[in-house]
Amino acid sequence: MGISKWILLFVTTLLFVSPSFVRFSYGALSSNGFSDIPKKLLDYAKRQELVDWMVGVRRKIHENPELGYEEFETSKLIREELDKMGIKYKYPVAVTGVVGFIGTGEPPFVAIRADMDALPMQEMVEWEHKSKVPGKMHACGHDAHVTMLLGAAKILKEHLEKLKVGCFIVACHELGECIKILSFTGESFQGTVVLVFQPAEEGGGGAMRIIDAGVLENVKAIFGLHVSPDIPVGQVASRPGPLLAGSGFFEAVISGKGGHAAIPQHSIDPILAASNVIVVTVAKFQGGGAFNVIPDSVTIGGTFRAFSKESFMQLKKRIEEVITGQAAVQRCSAAVTFQENGKAFFPPTVNDKDLHEYFQIVAGDMIGNQKVSIMQPLMGSEDFSFYQEVMPGNFFFLGMKNETLGKLESVHTPYFTVNEDALPYGAALHASLALRYLLDFQPKISSPEGKHHDEL
Ligand SMILES: [Zn+2]
Ligand SMILES: [Zn+2]
Repeated sequence: MGISKWILLFVTTLLFVSPSFVRFSYGALSSNGFSDIPKKLLDYAKRQELVDWMVGVRRKIHENPELGYEEFETSKLIREELDKMGIKYKYPVAVTGVVGFIGTGEPPFVAIRADMDALPMQEMVEWEHKSKVPGKMHACGHDAHVTMLLGAAKILKEHLEKLKVGCFIVACHELGECIKILSFTGESFQGTVVLVFQPAEEGGGGAMRIIDAGVLENVKAIFGLHVSPDIPVGQVASRPGPLLAGSGFFEAVISGKGGHAAIPQHSIDPILAASNVIVVTVAKFQGGGAFNVIPDSVTIGGTFRAFSKESFMQLKKRIEEVITGQAAVQRCSAAVTFQENGKAFFPPTVNDKDLHEYFQIVAGDMIGNQKVSIMQPLMGSEDFSFYQEVMPGNFFFLGMKNETLGKLESVHTPYFTVNEDALPYGAALHASLALRYLLDFQPKISSPEGKHHDEL
């Protein structure tokens, strides 16, 4: 179809569409005419050209992994791609973070987020695009997360520009034949998608610093995803309410009185005391340097997790009580601290119930309801939870598993790999969740003639 036909179709559509605006409830989304959007955006994301570009971006990031707050090259790559797309952004936000904006610059605002940091571990996978930085690796898939958010940016830029002028071409066949047009008359479409490229998810609390920077103040909802080697590609999983645990660190120094191991009656043994205070997971236990010397002190440390803030705080209190109480039984003293190197507690990742229902509808429209599952909560933690403390958010897992390609290793292992076939799904889901949210929450406006007022 040629340009002139497009214009004709657009103008014709304008003539027949009522100049009122409708605000839909989540439940009405499937029947409001927007239900085709996710599938069309997935078709768009699966175009070879877009897939090749995403694969290239992901491999480039994979080759140059950077740790939390050191994502300078990754951040630069993101900004270069946004520049090419003509997308405005704020930088730096939280040291290396980039926050992009697509749309009219006006409310409503909806955010989609990706984390950028790698892990301090040596990649053991031998392949062409292996990490070029010894001792650093994208072993949690954040290279794929950045790529999918850039993919979504590309999709949204393309489609939102059309919304801005009042016409939205949902998708076109490869031959250029239009499948569907949604049009808005009167006032144009309003709304902005906020792209959050966040540093330092792996324990650095980058999300908290993005919020502190004040760039998300008017954002009404946020969506985030994580790749999963356990869920088949083309499927997703999440749950309403608590999804991932809150996590904290503790360290305790237990002090006694050292002495010769052969005359323990003259010592106050901190090792004996420390062995009685093991609560939750103690992953660090340091004390003593000789086989025949009772040390003066022992340092223990570990992590604790819970699915609600209340149980988390209760656990924290009990850890302190048990350690100091048990140390006292052995005549030792104990000093407990709950943060390490300024690392923040991660609150539990708790999905907003309405937003989760909305996610299910949008994802179901894209890949089919049977491929959108409810999962059990996991003990892992995610700093996405910081966003959910200040606005409704939904976090979900994106499948990568494909049995025919062999088993995928878990995240945080040196053999972790990403199935790049998942990239179009993540990009299209990000884009669909954001776009339909904006369409759903269009502000009520009056007709240009001033006669018809939207009563909804
Ligand atoms: Zn991780
Ligand atoms: Zn991760």
